[in-house]
Amino acid sequence: MTVNKDVILPGATLGVMGGGQLGRMFVHAAQAMGYRTAVLDADPSSPAGLVSHAHIQTAYLDAAGLAELAKVSAAITTEFENVPAQALDKLAETRPVAPAGSAVAICQDRAREKAHFVGCGVDCAPHALIETPAQLAAVSDDLLPGILKTARLGYDGKGQIRVKTRAELIAAWDELQRVGCVLEKMLPLAYEVSVLVARGRDGQVVHFPLQQNLHRDGILAVTTVPAPNVTEAVSQQAYASAHKIAASMDYVGVLCIEFFVLADGRIVANEMAPRPHNSGHHTIDACDVSQFELQVRAMTGLPLVEPVLHSPCLMLNLLGDLWFPHGAMTQQEPDWAAVLALSGTHLHLYGKTEARQGRKMGHLTVTGATPEAAKAVALRAAAILGIAPF
Ligand code: ATP
Ligand code: MG
Repeated sequence: MTVNKDVILPGATLGVMGGGQLGRMFVHAAQAMGYRTAVLDADPSSPAGLVSHAHIQTAYLDAAGLAELAKVSAAITTEFENVPAQALDKLAETRPVAPAGSAVAICQDRAREKAHFVGCGVDCAPHALIETPAQLAAVSDDLLPGILKTARLGYDGKGQIRVKTRAELIAAWDELQRVGCVLEKMLPLAYEVSVLVARGRDGQVVHFPLQQNLHRDGILAVTTVPAPNVTEAVSQQAYASAHKIAASMDYVGVLCIEFFVLADGRIVANEMAPRPHNSGHHTIDACDVSQFELQVRAMTGLPLVEPVLHSPCLMLNLLGDLWFPHGAMTQQEPDWAAVLALSGTHLHLYGKTEARQGRKMGHLTVTGATPEAAKAVALRAAAILGIAPF
């Protein structure tokens, strides 16, 4: 193999926009490979800032902060899709940035994202754009019951209201301050899956085995791999769609596409995230290469390899609710010792000190020799932690 002079080798500093848990796990992967890291996030105790070599504590659009990040970094990525695309474009004037601001901009807007899926020949839920009272009035009855979602800045089910009637739709749009929204038809979901792909600068694309995701209250609760319900036809279609979408944006880095599988077996794209994803956290403990390592490889020009799942697994999200068992008024640490006494449990906490309802505090991956064994242990861990059975 010839050595590519453009490869950014270990020892160099990799920059990341955003200091959340995804940034923290990216930093861990980069450091394990011998890179130095720089995080830009205004929060002095951000999960990634706490573990990075350098932490630039400014807002995403702060000119001095961006200049500093570009100065110290050989290449830059983002861990958060709501980093303004113009910040990434600014960084790209002097440094390689992966994914590019243009790809992130598509993912930041549900309407653009859906149009992009359709342009790639990938089905999505029937929907309508609502930016004006006239568009609201013109909505077809076919889209009800539906979910009104803000076009921008939604995550973990925030900025979404379920509506059954036209009157509820009107009230919901008022409640969302009449910002640009997408009304999506409520679909009969059989189950949900996601696919993580990584695409290199040379156009090579690899993917992780599909994961099956259970959401509760709009937040990911449990990821299971291999996906127990998936058929060969569904997984092949999901992989093919994900490859097509990544290539269409000339994407570089890790990209996650979420899909709904409908009761009649059809598969539709829900949304995509231009970064490693919560549904890929199991890859740290259950695959021979993690989604975070593939992000490092893609952005530095190192080779990508087709990831292999070496252990069946389940990933349980650890939300802040678990710190308040049985309606406790004060925060209590869950019984980690009891959980870690179970074999195959891998605890990841993100260094957040304040637990809040719905806040992602960490995750627990359970690996096992068989899917059944992993599930049995995951259910025991869930019972200890106060997570409802699945
Ligand atoms: P994320 O944290 O994944 O970014 P989000 O806030 O962007 O979440 P969505 O992925 O749009 O939210 O929706 C969250 C969940 O709500 C979905 O995973 C699914 O369970 C449910 N949901 C969303 N849209 C629909 C739909 N059209 N029909 C049925 N269920 C839906
Ligand atoms: Mg989602």
